[in-house]
Amino acid sequence: MADSLLGPAEIRELAARLGVAPTKKLGQNFLHDPNTIRRIVAAAGLRADDVALEVGPGLGSLTLGLVGAVRHVHAVEIDPTLAAALPETVTAPHLTVHQADALRVRGDRFDPAPTMLVANLPYNVAVPVVLSLLAELPTLRGGLVMVQKEVADRLVAGPGSKVYGVPSVKLAWYAEAKSAGKVPPAVFWPVPNVDSGLVAFTRREPPADAVRTEVFAVIDAAFAQRRKTLRAALAGWAGGADRAEQVLRAAGVSPQARGEALTVGEFAAIAAAAKVSVP
Ligand code: SAM
Repeated sequence: MADSLLGPAEIRELAARLGVAPTKKLGQNFLHDPNTIRRIVAAAGLRADDVALEVGPGLGSLTLGLVGAVRHVHAVEIDPTLAAALPETVTAPHLTVHQADALRVRGDRFDPAPTMLVANLPYNVAVPVVLSLLAELPTLRGGLVMVQKEVADRLVAGPGSKVYGVPSVKLAWYAEAKSAGKVPPAVFWPVPNVDSGLVAFTRREPPADAVRTEVFAVIDAAFAQRRKTLRAALAGWAGGADRAEQVLRAAGVSPQARGEALTVGEFAAIAAAAKVSVP
């Protein structure tokens, strides 16, 4: 049983006792630095009446920090051994452990409804997990996630940046995101060979009159051929380059522009223009 934050010795001891050999496949790099845990919890901007959703609690390092900060914590862990052991490490009555794949969880399984996503995410599925939880859980008002530094840079990038792409625009559909700093490999066990980055986000209203699936289809098409002009890149999606040009003009977007220059609002305008018959 642990009632304070876990340091390197406790993490090793816990893993040995549970027979846990961390796997790359599940992105298992466990935090063993109480200062980093305190930093994540502080950067998340949690309120005492928040309900936190943690994806991938692992051995419970961050969970222990979260239970002291909010009124309820839901922890979703795919690994059955880790999920079963979590209530022994974190004995708080306001913790619910869900042994499940975060990519497949439905919003209605959580009671009380989560208001903040706070997680050191499994890096191989980090972007789909964030996007699917924002879609699935309208009660989420924001969050703070740790991801691979390169992915963090992409998530917070704006139009015109070299790393602006599908993850940036799709996250922008749901939320305003900003960097909350970098985290070095040494605070994890096993030590990963990449830096990590913190991304803080706050939900916002999506562009008016837009349907997410339709806008996401335009985004996917535009970035599938990112070096091409939108006239060419959207030809397949629109049913021909001429039709793509008509739609783009109707949306007030230059057919010669590239997807990497457009805001999420402009992608929404293109999707809306495609629904109106263009002469
Ligand atoms: N939060 C812990 C910490 O900071 O020490 C562990 C973080 S570790 C980077 C990622 C965790 O996510 C692992 O415990 C792994 O088993 C879990 N995981 C991997 N894929 C998952 C999925 N699809 N759904 C839920 N948990 C997953």
